[in-house]
Amino acid sequence: MNGAGAMIVEDLRRELPADRVVAEADSMAGYLHDEAEWAAHGMPLLVVRPRDAEEVRTVVRACIRHRVPVVTRGAGTGLSGGANAIADGVVLSTEHLADIREINAVERLAVVGPGVVNDDLRAACAARDLWYPPDPASAPWSTIGGNVATNAGGLCCVKYGVTRDYVLGLQVVTGTGELVRLGRRTAKGVVGFDLAGLMVGSEGTLGVITEITVKLRPKAGPERTVAGYFDSPFDAGRAVAAISASGVVPSALELIDRHCLAAVDAWKNMGLSTDANIVLLGRTDAPGLAGEQEAATMLDCFQRSDATWAAQSTDQAEADLLFAARRLAYPALERLGPVLTEDVCVPKAAVPEMLARIDATATRHDTLIANIAHAGDGNLHPLLITPAGDEGARTRALAAFDEIIGDAIALGGTISGEHGVGLLKRDGMVRELSPAVLDMHRAVKSALDPYNILNPGKVIAS
Ligand SMILES: Cc1cc2nc3c(=O)[nH]c(=O)nc-3n(C[C@H](O)[C@H](O)[C@H](O)COP(=O)(O)OP(=O)(O)OC[C@H]3O[C@@H](n4cnc5c(N)ncnc54)[C@H](O)[C@@H]3O)c2cc1C
Repeated sequence: MNGAGAMIVEDLRRELPADRVVAEADSMAGYLHDEAEWAAHGMPLLVVRPRDAEEVRTVVRACIRHRVPVVTRGAGTGLSGGANAIADGVVLSTEHLADIREINAVERLAVVGPGVVNDDLRAACAARDLWYPPDPASAPWSTIGGNVATNAGGLCCVKYGVTRDYVLGLQVVTGTGELVRLGRRTAKGVVGFDLAGLMVGSEGTLGVITEITVKLRPKAGPERTVAGYFDSPFDAGRAVAAISASGVVPSALELIDRHCLAAVDAWKNMGLSTDANIVLLGRTDAPGLAGEQEAATMLDCFQRSDATWAAQSTDQAEADLLFAARRLAYPALERLGPVLTEDVCVPKAAVPEMLARIDATATRHDTLIANIAHAGDGNLHPLLITPAGDEGARTRALAAFDEIIGDAIALGGTISGEHGVGLLKRDGMVRELSPAVLDMHRAVKSALDPYNILNPGKVIAS
């Protein structure tokens, strides 16, 4: 530990109650990295678990004083290395900032601490006949603070939008150690720049979010599910493009392939069929006749795109099981070996071509690539799996990863639809954005984090 390290440990032990500070290596083990298994991490000096915004401010001010980096951590379910600890830095965990402070049915908003788990907020809203739509597949674990910091998407975003569309206001500890309120809690508001919007998706590099005000919707109605099996990814992609062209906006349109279904079944023994190479799951929550018509249109799109089998589910439990399998796909695949996760997003019309290119990349680089996707958004998650310890396979997977990124950009897409840049996609960001735009990022970073202590090295190098 260097001099600054020893001093910050001493300062924080003095300035905070004893149970907030963890410095034993064993106890810090669970705070070292997120779910991006391929991203590097270091050994922090300590983990701090503040219980209110003032304590967060104490931590950030100590980090400024001693020029020590601070990595804010929600649940650590990130898939880009954004929450990975930095050597000789501080990890600030939001686990004890997990209170739901207000659910307001009149204003249709909720105010929460950043450590509130997504599903817990959704459940609390449902009890009041309200709905917080953003539903990343990690909703049982990931926090609202992490969701805001990554601008998380999810299954129902194809119809209802992403986290950014629901953030009204934020309380933030800035890189100069101020505690500020950004945004609003009113339905409208245009005073000054949209600084709350700037914080959304900033991956802990521009401020530590200590409170979040989100918009709510009335509870959604029951859904109808349509499933389709496809032999080729190209045909499944055609079905996605056809649904988009039909004018139907599904409340979810998810893709899951045979590798994922097999891995989930091997793990959870859910009795899933692995007859199809690709399964598409479409949902509509339109009420009454409109819902029937939307389900029929989706079914028709599946059939016209050469589905080998397609049907509207009559069994809600069976439909829920397929969606549960979709949510479990990632942890199930992790059991097979280290997973390198892509998050490319392409225009919907380019989904068939992108899926075909991913298939070709897997063959060319002799790499197992499983696929899950928020297909209705064109947001694809090719998951590159390599046997643990196989360096050759790792090198081939990295080449495949780069090629997929290049293809997404070439097709008019982006390298990250929802997981963020973190550590894994910094090179991709440089490929996607022009030098002038990268300079704008650096200017914002140095204006809001002049001491370069907030998650330095993530997203953009200073
Ligand atoms: C099984 C699985 C399924 C997933 N499905 C989806 C999905 O459908 N859609 C999707 O978008 N993502 C998905 N993810 C990725 C991940 O869950 C999201 O990125 C999520 O938003 C991260 O939340 P977290 O609480 O785990 O944040 P962490 O991983 O702890 O942190 C993520 C980033 O946010 C920053 N951060 C966290 N809290 C704060 C705060 N209070 N203030 C400032 N910065 C902060 C961290 O520094 C880091 O850069 C999935 C991950 C897994 C493992």
